Amino acid sequence: MFWTRELIARNAPVRRRAAPPPGEPPHLGRGVAAYLGLAIGDALGATVEFMTPNEIRQRHGVHDQITGGGWLRLKAGRVTDDTTMSLALGDAILATGGVEATAAARAFDDWMRAKPVDIGNTVRRNLVAFRQTGNPQAPASEHDAGNGAAMRVLPVALACYGQPEKTCIFANRAQAHVTHHNVLSDAACETLIFMVQDLLAGRDPIDVERRRAEKLASQHPVFAYDKKRCENPSGYVVDTLKAVLQSFFATESFEDCLVDVVNRGGDADTTGAIAGMLAGARYGLEGIPRRWLAALEDSTRQACERQAKNLLLQAGMQPQASPTPA
Ligand SMILES: [Mg+2]
Repeated sequence: MFWTRELIARNAPVRRRAAPPPGEPPHLGRGVAAYLGLAIGDALGATVEFMTPNEIRQRHGVHDQITGGGWLRLKAGRVTDDTTMSLALGDAILATGGVEATAAARAFDDWMRAKPVDIGNTVRRNLVAFRQTGNPQAPASEHDAGNGAAMRVLPVALACYGQPEKTCIFANRAQAHVTHHNVLSDAACETLIFMVQDLLAGRDPIDVERRRAEKLASQHPVFAYDKKRCENPSGYVVDTLKAVLQSFFATESFEDCLVDVVNRGGDADTTGAIAGMLAGARYGLEGIPRRWLAALEDSTRQACERQAKNLLLQAGMQPQASPTPA
């Protein structure tokens, strides 16, 4: 038999077109944007931390540039404890393969030994206690309702992405109770974690507000954020969350959200960091103004990008919970 062209073609091994490289899943980009948003909000807000809205207006008009300075006299683009504690926690999660209390406590203790530019009182007190006792869980205290645990939840949200809510809550308490063992702090941390995860999954912000923020306010009415504008928010986690939630749900871009929240003054690096995390998860990388990304210190930007990806990759290797309908 002659092998005609037709026969050759018919008997040739089936050539499969090489599968296109799998596109990056959208939640990966949004996770990176959330981490960059955290750092950008921290760097932007640090300039006006402890100022009142009036003082900010007089000195800056509208504060919307990353310029450093502030009471910590930061170099432009440098971040504070909100970002560096998050990175310390994220590294411990990656090294351990999960969120583990003693590993988190050791990571925070090493972070404190490295003399960070800033450290909260509750964080310092309970890390000193950990050094003395080796117990990674601070005693429960109604006074430890500062925002120091809520400001560092992002690595938990990423590491537990796709996991059942109970797993996220358990993981968060392991890290949060190292320094803040408090019911209101827990409620704030958990709400933020679920908000980030919902936004990474592409959930509608209106839905996120109803499912998460309004639920927080109904379970703990002190968090109700729908009335008076929260200006000059303190480091009390309730004030912090109220200012952040007001800004986040009242604006429609990454830039507007961060400018709104840091110009309220008060604990502006932390409100900026938390709002930046949520806004990054909502608007993604394309929503982040180039001038702010360029202003961030290179080493910080790279650490945030690398850690966000690695935490989400680690999360992707865990058995996933069945997705809830969006
Ligand atoms: Mg700070």
